[in-house]
Amino acid sequence: MAIEKHINFFELQKASEKPGCPLCRIISDRAYKYIDNTLFEHVADRGFRAMFRAAGGFCSFHSRNLVSFRDGLAVAILSRDILEDRLDCFKYKKPWRPKKRCPVCIERENIENEYLDFLNNSGGNSVEERELRDFFTASDGLCAPHYAKLISAKGFKSVPAWLKQFQEEKFKELMTRLDKFIELSAYGRQKEFAALSEQDQLVWKEAAACLNENME
Ligand SMILES: [Zn+2]
Ligand SMILES: [Zn+2]
Repeated sequence: MAIEKHINFFELQKASEKPGCPLCRIISDRAYKYIDNTLFEHVADRGFRAMFRAAGGFCSFHSRNLVSFRDGLAVAILSRDILEDRLDCFKYKKPWRPKKRCPVCIERENIENEYLDFLNNSGGNSVEERELRDFFTASDGLCAPHYAKLISAKGFKSVPAWLKQFQEEKFKELMTRLDKFIELSAYGRQKEFAALSEQDQLVWKEAAACLNENME
């Protein structure tokens, strides 16, 4: 494994020990670090400022984060550029159309592709790959949107058999538990419902989390 693959490996191992989709977790953590550490180092960088300006700043979702960051001066400098462009539009009654996409959204996509590629190439039988298989199959697995992206990713090898089997069994098991939950939610089945484990009584929360990518 090359050095950068080792980083992927350890990051994935750490995320697999925590609840929820490991890929969602890695992307959110890295995107947060991107805004917090990297971005503000680039405020003085002309190229970055031009890109940020062309995007009209972050998308509304990621700009929510701006107020919670510690560097007020950086936010002021970046916002000033955008405001200048906005004022121009107001003056000439021009519609506001950013030419580029939100830099955090682009960063998220890059991290996601890096990991989809990494996972799709983990079907071998080296010590690391076997270790990866062990910790990954002990995790909550990928959310449905990330698994869908994994199997349809273009230019990648086909998904390793162990991964396909693990994920699809997870989704089927969730389906069975949802069916049970729905069945026992019917009038007159309260006793049977009360006998379900706490986890099974809250399976709807699991389903909602599994069907949606965490965008935080
Ligand atoms: Zn996910
Ligand atoms: Zn964004």
